[in-house]
Amino acid sequence: MESPKIQQEIQNLMSLNRLPHAIILEGADAKTREEVALYLSQWAVCKSAEKPCGDCSGCIKAERKSHGDIYYAQKAGKTEVIPIEEIRKICSDAFIMPNESDTKVYVLYDADKMLLPACNAFLKILEEPPQATLFILTCQSCAALLPTILSRAVVFHLDSETESSSGENIALLANEIALAMIAHKEFPLLSSIGSFSSDKKMMTDTLNNLKVILRDSLVLSYGTPVISKTESCQKLANVLTQAQLISLLDIIDNTLIKINQNINMNLLTTWFCASLRRISWQR
Ligand SMILES: [Zn+2]
Repeated sequence: MESPKIQQEIQNLMSLNRLPHAIILEGADAKTREEVALYLSQWAVCKSAEKPCGDCSGCIKAERKSHGDIYYAQKAGKTEVIPIEEIRKICSDAFIMPNESDTKVYVLYDADKMLLPACNAFLKILEEPPQATLFILTCQSCAALLPTILSRAVVFHLDSETESSSGENIALLANEIALAMIAHKEFPLLSSIGSFSSDKKMMTDTLNNLKVILRDSLVLSYGTPVISKTESCQKLANVLTQAQLISLLDIIDNTLIKINQNINMNLLTTWFCASLRRISWQR
Protein backbone atom coordinates (compact mmCIF):
# COMPACT_ATOMS: atom_id res chain seq x y z
CA MET A 1 0.00 0.00 0.00
CA GLU A 2 1.33 3.42 -0.92
CA SER A 3 0.27 5.40 2.10
CA PRO A 4 2.36 4.53 5.17
CA LYS A 5 0.57 7.20 7.21
CA ILE A 6 -2.84 5.59 6.73
CA GLN A 7 -1.24 2.23 7.42
CA GLN A 8 0.07 3.65 10.70
CA GLU A 9 -3.31 5.16 11.58
CA ILE A 10 -5.04 1.84 10.99
CA GLN A 11 -2.40 -0.04 12.97
CA ASN A 12 -2.83 2.38 15.87
CA LEU A 13 -6.58 2.02 15.90
CA MET A 14 -6.44 -1.74 15.57
CA SER A 15 -3.81 -2.17 18.26
CA LEU A 16 -5.65 0.03 20.73
CA ASN A 17 -9.14 -1.20 20.14
CA ARG A 18 -11.20 -4.07 18.98
CA LEU A 19 -11.92 -4.34 15.29
CA PRO A 20 -14.92 -2.08 14.67
CA HIS A 21 -17.93 -3.51 12.84
CA ALA A 22 -17.82 -0.95 10.08
CA ILE A 23 -15.08 1.18 8.58
CA ILE A 24 -15.70 3.93 6.07
CA LEU A 25 -12.83 4.91 3.78
CA GLU A 26 -13.37 8.42 2.52
CA GLY A 27 -11.46 10.62 0.10
CA ALA A 28 -8.40 10.09 -2.13
CA ASP A 29 -8.96 8.29 -5.44
CA ALA A 30 -10.78 5.02 -6.14
CA LYS A 31 -7.51 3.09 -6.53
CA THR A 32 -6.18 4.21 -3.13
CA ARG A 33 -9.51 3.41 -1.47
CA GLU A 34 -9.40 -0.09 -3.01
CA GLU A 35 -5.83 -0.59 -1.77
CA VAL A 36 -6.74 0.44 1.77
CA ALA A 37 -9.86 -1.76 1.65
CA LEU A 38 -7.67 -4.70 0.64
CA TYR A 39 -5.22 -3.92 3.46
CA LEU A 40 -8.07 -3.90 5.98
CA SER A 41 -9.56 -7.14 4.64
CA GLN A 42 -6.16 -8.77 4.92
CA TRP A 43 -5.91 -7.44 8.46
CA ALA A 44 -9.23 -9.09 9.27
CA VAL A 45 -8.46 -12.53 7.81
CA CYS A 46 -4.69 -12.75 8.46
CA LYS A 47 -3.62 -15.79 10.46
CA SER A 48 -0.35 -14.31 11.76
CA ALA A 49 0.28 -12.33 14.91
CA GLU A 50 1.73 -9.38 12.95
CA LYS A 51 -1.24 -8.39 10.83
CA PRO A 52 -1.45 -8.25 7.88
CA CYS A 53 1.60 -10.42 7.16
CA GLY A 54 1.01 -10.66 3.41
CA ASP A 55 2.36 -14.22 3.40
CA CYS A 56 -0.25 -16.44 5.07
CA SER A 57 -2.94 -18.23 3.08
CA GLY A 58 -5.50 -15.69 4.31
CA CYS A 59 -3.51 -12.69 3.08
CA ILE A 60 -2.66 -14.34 -0.25
CA LYS A 61 -6.26 -15.32 -0.96
CA ALA A 62 -7.41 -11.81 -0.01
CA GLU A 63 -4.90 -10.34 -2.46
CA ARG A 64 -6.15 -12.68 -5.20
CA LYS A 65 -9.74 -11.81 -4.31
CA SER A 66 -10.46 -15.50 -3.78
CA HIS A 67 -10.93 -15.60 0.00
CA GLY A 68 -14.16 -17.35 1.01
CA ASP A 69 -14.81 -14.93 3.86
CA ILE A 70 -14.33 -11.71 1.90
CA TYR A 71 -17.25 -10.63 -0.23
CA TYR A 72 -17.31 -7.70 -2.65
CA ALA A 73 -20.79 -6.24 -3.06
CA GLN A 74 -21.83 -6.39 -6.71
CA LYS A 75 -23.15 -3.32 -8.46
CA ALA A 76 -26.22 -3.56 -10.67
CA GLY A 77 -25.61 -3.40 -14.43
CA LYS A 78 -25.37 0.03 -15.98
CA THR A 79 -26.37 2.01 -12.91
CA GLU A 80 -23.08 1.27 -11.11
CA VAL A 81 -24.83 1.30 -7.74
CA ILE A 82 -25.20 -1.49 -5.20
CA PRO A 83 -28.89 -2.50 -5.37
CA ILE A 84 -31.07 -3.29 -2.35
CA GLU A 85 -31.23 -6.97 -3.40
CA GLU A 86 -27.47 -7.17 -2.98
CA ILE A 87 -27.68 -5.59 0.50
CA ARG A 88 -30.40 -8.09 1.48
CA LYS A 89 -28.19 -10.94 0.25
CA ILE A 90 -25.32 -9.62 2.38
CA CYS A 91 -27.60 -9.19 5.40
CA SER A 92 -28.63 -12.84 5.41
CA ASP A 93 -25.16 -14.11 4.52
CA ALA A 94 -23.55 -12.15 7.36
CA PHE A 95 -25.26 -14.34 9.93
CA ILE A 96 -23.53 -17.47 8.61
CA MET A 97 -20.25 -18.14 10.43
CA PRO A 98 -16.97 -17.53 8.57
CA ASN A 99 -15.30 -20.48 6.86
CA GLU A 100 -11.55 -20.01 6.99
CA SER A 101 -10.89 -17.00 9.19
CA ASP A 102 -12.31 -15.49 12.37
CA THR A 103 -14.01 -12.62 10.59
CA LYS A 104 -16.31 -12.19 7.64
CA VAL A 105 -15.58 -9.14 5.53
CA TYR A 106 -17.96 -7.29 3.21
CA VAL A 107 -16.53 -4.64 0.94
CA LEU A 108 -18.93 -2.05 -0.47
CA TYR A 109 -17.27 0.21 -3.03
CA ASP A 110 -18.88 3.61 -3.72
CA ALA A 111 -21.28 3.22 -0.83
CA ASP A 112 -22.20 6.91 -1.17
CA LYS A 113 -23.96 6.08 -4.45
CA MET A 114 -26.35 3.57 -2.86
CA LEU A 115 -29.99 4.62 -3.04
CA LEU A 116 -31.98 5.28 0.12
CA PRO A 117 -33.79 1.89 0.28
CA ALA A 118 -30.43 0.10 0.08
CA CYS A 119 -28.97 2.43 2.72
CA ASN A 120 -31.86 1.75 5.06
CA ALA A 121 -31.53 -1.99 4.57
CA PHE A 122 -27.83 -1.71 5.29
CA LEU A 123 -28.47 0.44 8.37
CA LYS A 124 -30.59 -2.36 9.85
CA ILE A 125 -27.68 -4.79 9.86
CA LEU A 126 -25.35 -2.11 11.16
CA GLU A 127 -27.67 -1.48 14.10
CA GLU A 128 -27.37 -5.07 15.22
CA PRO A 129 -24.32 -6.43 13.47
CA PRO A 130 -23.58 -10.17 13.63
CA GLN A 131 -20.48 -11.12 15.63
CA ALA A 132 -17.15 -11.20 13.82
CA THR A 133 -18.23 -9.18 10.82
CA LEU A 134 -16.40 -6.26 9.24
CA PHE A 135 -18.08 -3.99 6.72
CA ILE A 136 -15.71 -1.84 4.68
CA LEU A 137 -17.38 1.00 2.81
CA THR A 138 -15.56 3.26 0.40
CA CYS A 139 -16.80 6.63 -0.81
CA GLN A 140 -15.61 9.91 -2.27
CA SER A 141 -17.24 11.85 0.54
CA CYS A 142 -18.93 10.43 3.59
CA ALA A 143 -21.17 13.52 3.73
CA ALA A 144 -23.38 11.68 1.24
CA LEU A 145 -23.94 8.78 3.64
CA LEU A 146 -26.78 8.65 6.17
CA PRO A 147 -25.69 10.18 9.51
CA THR A 148 -27.10 7.09 11.18
CA ILE A 149 -24.67 4.94 9.17
CA LEU A 150 -21.78 7.33 9.90
CA SER A 151 -22.42 7.25 13.61
CA ARG A 152 -22.06 3.48 13.66
CA ALA A 153 -18.77 3.34 11.81
CA VAL A 154 -15.17 4.45 12.13
CA VAL A 155 -14.30 6.89 9.35
CA PHE A 156 -10.82 7.08 7.80
CA HIS A 157 -10.04 10.18 5.74
CA LEU A 158 -7.57 9.06 3.11
CA ASP A 159 -6.45 12.43 1.76
CA SER A 160 -5.01 13.59 5.05
CA GLU A 161 -1.31 13.20 4.26
CA THR A 162 -0.51 16.83 5.07
CA GLU A 163 -2.46 17.08 8.28
CA SER A 164 -0.66 16.90 11.58
CA SER A 165 -3.15 14.92 13.63
CA SER A 166 -1.82 11.38 13.52
CA GLY A 167 -3.80 8.33 14.55
CA GLU A 168 -1.66 7.91 17.61
CA ASN A 169 -2.38 11.43 18.85
CA ILE A 170 -6.07 10.94 18.22
CA ALA A 171 -6.09 7.72 20.22
CA LEU A 172 -4.22 9.41 23.07
CA LEU A 173 -6.60 12.35 23.02
CA ALA A 174 -9.66 10.07 23.12
CA ASN A 175 -8.12 8.28 26.09
CA GLU A 176 -7.45 11.63 27.77
CA ILE A 177 -11.06 12.75 27.32
CA ALA A 178 -12.33 9.44 28.66
CA LEU A 179 -10.22 9.83 31.81
CA ALA A 180 -11.15 13.51 32.18
CA MET A 181 -14.84 12.58 32.03
CA ILE A 182 -14.57 10.63 35.25
CA ALA A 183 -12.03 12.88 36.97
CA HIS A 184 -14.65 15.35 38.21
CA LYS A 185 -12.37 18.21 37.25
CA GLU A 186 -13.52 20.82 34.82
CA PHE A 187 -10.12 21.82 33.48
CA PRO A 188 -8.79 18.50 32.07
CA LEU A 189 -12.04 17.94 30.20
CA LEU A 190 -12.11 21.44 28.75
CA SER A 191 -8.46 21.39 27.74
CA SER A 192 -8.75 17.95 26.10
CA ILE A 193 -11.85 18.94 24.18
CA GLY A 194 -10.39 22.36 23.42
CA SER A 195 -7.70 20.66 21.31
CA PHE A 196 -10.13 20.06 18.50
CA SER A 197 -12.34 23.08 18.79
CA SER A 198 -11.72 24.19 15.21
CA ASP A 199 -10.70 20.96 13.54
CA LYS A 200 -13.69 18.95 12.34
CA LYS A 201 -11.68 16.01 11.07
CA MET A 202 -9.75 15.73 14.31
CA MET A 203 -12.96 15.96 16.32
CA THR A 204 -14.65 13.29 14.19
CA ASP A 205 -11.67 10.95 14.49
CA THR A 206 -11.36 11.51 18.23
CA LEU A 207 -15.06 10.94 18.83
CA ASN A 208 -14.94 7.72 16.82
CA ASN A 209 -12.08 6.57 19.05
CA LEU A 210 -13.93 7.64 22.17
CA LYS A 211 -16.95 5.69 20.98
CA VAL A 212 -14.91 2.49 20.77
CA ILE A 213 -13.56 3.13 24.30
CA LEU A 214 -17.11 3.57 25.64
CA ARG A 215 -18.38 0.50 23.80
CA ASP A 216 -15.52 -1.54 25.21
CA SER A 217 -16.27 -0.22 28.69
CA LEU A 218 -19.89 -1.23 28.25
CA VAL A 219 -18.86 -4.71 27.14
CA LEU A 220 -16.51 -4.94 30.14
CA SER A 221 -19.29 -3.84 32.48
CA TYR A 222 -21.26 -6.92 31.40
CA GLY A 223 -18.29 -9.03 32.48
CA THR A 224 -17.21 -9.91 28.94
CA PRO A 225 -13.45 -9.66 28.35
CA VAL A 226 -12.31 -7.19 25.71
CA ILE A 227 -9.23 -7.71 23.52
CA SER A 228 -6.49 -5.07 23.76
CA LYS A 229 -8.54 -2.46 25.56
CA THR A 230 -7.26 1.04 26.28
CA GLU A 231 -6.20 2.10 29.73
CA SER A 232 -9.39 4.06 30.33
CA CYS A 233 -11.86 1.23 29.53
CA GLN A 234 -11.60 -0.60 32.83
CA LYS A 235 -11.74 2.66 34.81
CA LEU A 236 -14.85 3.79 32.99
CA ALA A 237 -16.46 0.39 33.46
CA ASN A 238 -15.75 0.59 37.20
CA VAL A 239 -16.92 4.16 37.74
CA LEU A 240 -19.86 4.63 35.38
CA THR A 241 -23.15 2.73 35.25
CA GLN A 242 -24.29 1.00 32.08
CA ALA A 243 -27.04 3.62 31.69
CA GLN A 244 -24.43 6.38 31.88
CA LEU A 245 -22.23 4.66 29.28
CA ILE A 246 -25.20 4.30 26.93
CA SER A 247 -26.16 7.97 27.40
CA LEU A 248 -22.57 9.00 26.65
CA LEU A 249 -22.60 6.93 23.44
CA ASP A 250 -25.81 8.74 22.45
CA ILE A 251 -24.18 12.12 23.06
CA ILE A 252 -21.25 11.17 20.83
CA ASP A 253 -23.58 9.96 18.07
CA ASN A 254 -25.52 13.22 18.26
CA THR A 255 -22.32 15.23 18.18
CA LEU A 256 -21.06 13.31 15.13
CA ILE A 257 -24.32 14.08 13.33
CA LYS A 258 -24.03 17.78 14.26
CA ILE A 259 -20.43 18.01 12.98
CA ASN A 260 -21.72 16.99 9.55
CA GLN A 261 -24.44 19.65 9.72
CA ASN A 262 -21.94 22.52 9.61
CA ILE A 263 -22.82 23.74 13.06
CA ASN A 264 -20.59 26.38 14.76
CA MET A 265 -17.69 24.39 16.20
CA ASN A 266 -17.28 26.51 19.34
CA LEU A 267 -20.91 26.10 20.26
CA LEU A 268 -20.72 22.42 19.46
CA THR A 269 -17.68 21.75 21.65
CA THR A 270 -19.23 23.74 24.53
CA TRP A 271 -22.47 21.76 24.23
CA PHE A 272 -20.53 18.49 23.95
CA CYS A 273 -18.45 19.27 27.03
CA ALA A 274 -21.51 20.23 29.09
CA SER A 275 -23.37 17.08 28.00
CA LEU A 276 -20.45 14.80 28.92
CA ARG A 277 -20.20 16.47 32.32
CA ARG A 278 -23.93 16.25 32.95
CA ILE A 279 -23.96 12.48 32.37
CA SER A 280 -20.62 11.34 33.71
CA TRP A 281 -20.64 13.41 36.90
CA GLN A 282 -24.05 12.35 38.16
CA ARG A 283 -23.40 9.81 40.87
ZN1 LIG B 1 -1.38 -12.88 6.84
